Amino acid sequence: MSDAYNQLLDATIRHLEDLKSRGVCNVAVSGETLRALARPRAETIQFTTVKPQLEKPAAPAPAAKQAALIASPVETQSAIRNPQSPIEKAAAFAALRERALACVKCPHLASSRKNVVFGVGSIDAQLMFVGEAPGADEDEQGEPFVGKAGQLLTKIIQATGLKRADVYIANILKCRPDTPGQSAGNRKPTGDEMATCIPYLHAQIDLIRPRVIVALGATAVEGLLGKTLGITKLRGTWKTYRGTPLMPTYHPAYLLRNQAMSEKRKVWEDMLAVMEILELPVSDKQRNYFLRP
Ligand code: URA
Repeated sequence: MSDAYNQLLDATIRHLEDLKSRGVCNVAVSGETLRALARPRAETIQFTTVKPQLEKPAAPAPAAKQAALIASPVETQSAIRNPQSPIEKAAAFAALRERALACVKCPHLASSRKNVVFGVGSIDAQLMFVGEAPGADEDEQGEPFVGKAGQLLTKIIQATGLKRADVYIANILKCRPDTPGQSAGNRKPTGDEMATCIPYLHAQIDLIRPRVIVALGATAVEGLLGKTLGITKLRGTWKTYRGTPLMPTYHPAYLLRNQAMSEKRKVWEDMLAVMEILELPVSDKQRNYFLRP
């Protein structure tokens, strides 16, 4: 028991040290986590038998199995399958991240990448954003959505009253799609690349158990739901990803290409719908963003 506790604690400390080394100064921690950390050690271990928070959907079995497939050490598998305490959850997440960082399942991407872009944000987030794949800036910095499109995403998040650190942000692909023979530019991930990488995202979602997922653009929707319908048709209509409400919306890169107020308003309407589900307060000013006077 005490060995397991120390292993989980070590993994959590490694995870926090890694975040710190990448310049993260603040980590959003839920009240439940703080209460568990404040408990004496024995009680913290017992906490593993407490049921997960009611408002979070239960972790679905198929993806938990996928997470276990990604993980190899036995202790990691059990932590991912049943991470009921905050410490187990953080450790399972850290172990998953370590495996993704070492992944070479797509040898062409592993050899061209500078960094694996695992994801960023709070592992207790109620809201999760999923994009397509890292671009050059993200590959360089090892963090999703840090380029121009990412800066716009951060503004969208802040417009809801949340901070970037309150949500979790990840991509369908954890490596930048290579562009051999091209000095710049991005390409859409192939079906094979998406199928190979998606278990990492499934496992991230299963561990975080967000209340709402926002899928940014058609590739994110395709990766999560297998839909190939155009994003114009899909956006603004609630879907479900294994019981979790999923809102498809335009990718922020599209808003950078198309500066029309009407397109910004559509994304904002999708975010208002998300805020409503999350019971976030909506001011009159927020309700009227991007509406013509
Ligand atoms: N576009 C994406 O889909 N993801 C990123 O991380 C950056 C740009």
